[in-house]
Amino acid sequence: MMPAALPMNPVRLAVDLFCRGMRVDPSCDSLPALRRTRAGLGSGFETRLREGPRPLCVNVPVVERFAADSPWVLAPRVGAGESRHVVVNAESGEVHPLWIPDEPAWYGRPTKSSGRAMAEVGTLQGTYLGVYVGGVCGFWSGRGENACGFCTSGLNVGGPARRPVSVAEVVETARAAKEESGVTFVHLNAGYAGESTLDGIYPFVEALKSEVGVLVGVQATPARDLSRYDRLRELGADHLSFCYEFHDPKVLAEVCPGKNHALGQKAYFDALVHCSGLFGRGACSGEIIAGVEPLAKTLEAIEWIASVGAFPTVCIFRPTLGARMEHAQPPAPEDMVVALREAWNACRRHKVPIGLAPNVRVSLIVQVDDAYELIERPSMADRAWRAALAAGRVATRPVFRKRMKARST
Ligand code: SF4
Repeated sequence: MMPAALPMNPVRLAVDLFCRGMRVDPSCDSLPALRRTRAGLGSGFETRLREGPRPLCVNVPVVERFAADSPWVLAPRVGAGESRHVVVNAESGEVHPLWIPDEPAWYGRPTKSSGRAMAEVGTLQGTYLGVYVGGVCGFWSGRGENACGFCTSGLNVGGPARRPVSVAEVVETARAAKEESGVTFVHLNAGYAGESTLDGIYPFVEALKSEVGVLVGVQATPARDLSRYDRLRELGADHLSFCYEFHDPKVLAEVCPGKNHALGQKAYFDALVHCSGLFGRGACSGEIIAGVEPLAKTLEAIEWIASVGAFPTVCIFRPTLGARMEHAQPPAPEDMVVALREAWNACRRHKVPIGLAPNVRVSLIVQVDDAYELIERPSMADRAWRAALAAGRVATRPVFRKRMKARST
């Protein structure tokens, strides 16, 4: 199924780096610190494989076991060139430019409200600000046996030694991120806190929309009482994502016992269908992990998500250190190319608009709009859909400008 002729363009390289990781040549110095946040996908180096107005941001695994065997090596550039670093394939000799953005000055700055460093409140994951809100996920209670097998959030965030972030801290950090790093989107995610999970998120959405003026996304376990989503809509939330992880219920039960037992797949499906109608086409996403269940199931998931007007967020499985699945193998890049190409095709077929929001470039995944570059020979329909999305980005600018205006001004 894999087109052998597909060149190692930046998006194809991103897939390879997600699946194979990267070694770091000892001659690389002054690299930014690795920051493990949230469920663990952001455990690697924040890099860019392409600069420009729509940079290609990739969080490259470097500490996981599989990265030690990667043919890709991060090295300083020798001689003149567009970037200070390159990534070299030690087997084939091919060399690609790679940019490592400097950490923003606000990372180390203390919040006035508590003195906590802003990087402990939220971090950039690509060009957006990712913030974990609330206490440790309920599935991590006890010895963590109910936690999802790929997750390390119980080790990274919200634990007893780490008090949850406050609304004031998030507002200050988001304001700095907006003013100094041009952030337009804040993504709030939370662990499981029962049916009232959303109650803990409402105050953050309200404050970000009224006091900062940014697009706000919410990623939380689904509420059974679907009327709870009305409140999120009233508060101005722009995006919701539902991590249902696996299409095969048996795989969900095995890998995510807590989610399966407390919620079940149906709660995710019901919430996604409901919110997709409530928030509009392309505003919600169904998030799945590719590379654990058979590829055919991942493709089924992609088709179903797009069929309900949401976009598929395809996370390439990363066996993160500390997770129950840390010894598992990452997926084959060729399979991930197939999955991502299908995500593009499904959004095109079902006319789910993707990539319209300004300056939202995500480093933890390959965005569906970028998956166009994984198509060996784009059809007329592919080219027309790509042109329609580009036109849509221009046409929706006033809408997003309005949504990014602080409600209190
Ligand atoms: S729901 Fe699963 S993935 Fe999310 S924080 Fe809890 S254990 Fe981790």
